[in-house]
Amino acid sequence: MKIAIYPGSFDPVTNGHVDVIDRAAKLFNKVIVAVIRNPEKRAQFSLTERVGMLKESLAHHKNVMVDSFDGLLVDYARKKKATTIIRGLRAVSDFDYEFQMALTNRKMAPKIETLFFMTDYKYSYLSSSFVKQIAKLGGDISSLVPKAVREKLKNRKVGG
Ligand code: ADP
Repeated sequence: MKIAIYPGSFDPVTNGHVDVIDRAAKLFNKVIVAVIRNPEKRAQFSLTERVGMLKESLAHHKNVMVDSFDGLLVDYARKKKATTIIRGLRAVSDFDYEFQMALTNRKMAPKIETLFFMTDYKYSYLSSSFVKQIAKLGGDISSLVPKAVREKLKNRKVGG
């Protein structure tokens, strides 16, 4: 049983995240999308909202689960018996941070591998903060996020 964890803030989930998950779901028996409970990083959406939007957007996948965690990612991965941590790469600007995190995690848990998915060109400029900014300014985000996020943003003034 190959289990992978895809950790992130998902504040909110975008089509870029969903694309990574769609691809990972084909390679692993189980993918756990894990929302980081990080009180230091102020999130726009509550943990419950972020988990809810992910669950709705990923309901079509039988082997994808949504969860949340706090503490060390490698401890959570061990608890879930995951062999792989999934992350996405868009531009060179992602690299430094991702490199540092992957090496730190490997030092702490040498048996857990970090696997990077290169973004699809359609999503290379897409980030959660970009979506929030566009929504705040009244722009059209319909091609950038799943339906569940579109509806949530419609009913709510973002970043006000
Ligand atoms: P974090 O705060 O952990 O970076 P994010 O939700 O912003 O959480 O991102 C989670 C992961 O998804 C990161 O590895 C990020 O690089 C990746 N990611 C975000 N947007 C995209 C995208 N458009 N294409 C591919 N990967 C992405």
